[in-house]
Amino acid sequence: MTNMTNRTAFVTGASRGIGRACAQALGEAGARVVLAARDTAKLEEAAMQIPGATCVSIDLASPESIKEAFAKAGKIDILVNNAGITKDGLAMRMKKEDWEAVLRTNLTGAHFCIQQALPTMMKARAGRIINISSVVAQSGNAGQANYVAAKAGLIGLTKAIAIEIASRGVTVNAVAPGFIETPMTDVLPDKVKEELKTRIPLGRMGSPRDVAVAIVFLASDEAGYITGQVLSVNGGMHLA
Ligand code: NAP
Repeated sequence: MTNMTNRTAFVTGASRGIGRACAQALGEAGARVVLAARDTAKLEEAAMQIPGATCVSIDLASPESIKEAFAKAGKIDILVNNAGITKDGLAMRMKKEDWEAVLRTNLTGAHFCIQQALPTMMKARAGRIINISSVVAQSGNAGQANYVAAKAGLIGLTKAIAIEIASRGVTVNAVAPGFIETPMTDVLPDKVKEELKTRIPLGRMGSPRDVAVAIVFLASDEAGYITGQVLSVNGGMHLA
């Protein structure tokens, strides 16, 4: 696999869970990793485990914060739009704030990050953008209309931008994780987790590392002929 020594990778939501594992794996592949999230203390703790890594504070709900973070990070070769939140509830009763917060962070935030990273990638005629979607974007899920809409929107965004910038040597792909062991899923009651596991043919929840290796592959030179695609990492939970 590619040695990424001369690459800079910007990973949002890198303080824990999938983003942290992804930053670690990109670091192991040799990339200089910039870890981004809101909680800088947690980010610094994660960055200490990755040689050469740095941190930058970012709030994906704020276009100004996104601009500032990318200005601090400098030239980016690999962008992983991983940060995401949930604010679950039945669609009929969903509060406007909960709808807007999830769309703003999970979808609009990723779009603004891409806008910030693209000019230097296009100039370099090389780059990798990987958007973290979800199995529920493919299957739907009750109680998550805002999250599902945002994650399905990320797949559309992936395809549209992939076509727009293919001629500049930049690839854009999505990874759709299934049910992964992270702080996001830790909060689910044990009964729900057990029921979910019965729907996974491989019989277990995924680890953050399972997702990270797929991201590293899409970020590699070897994946240069793959663009506009969705790579599912879900233990067979949903066959798209
Ligand atoms: P997680 O453990 O909750 O971590 C989320 C990360 O996003 C944290 O680093 C968090 O840091 C950051 N974040 C949240 N809001 C942010 C904001 N406004 N600005 C900047 N950073 C923000 O989540 P995870 O389970 O690792 O999930 C990572 C991604 O995979 C998410 O997009 C999620 O939707 C997706 N996914 C997860 C699963 C799963 O089963 N876990 C399945 C499918 C898809 P701060 O709070 O410090 O900002």
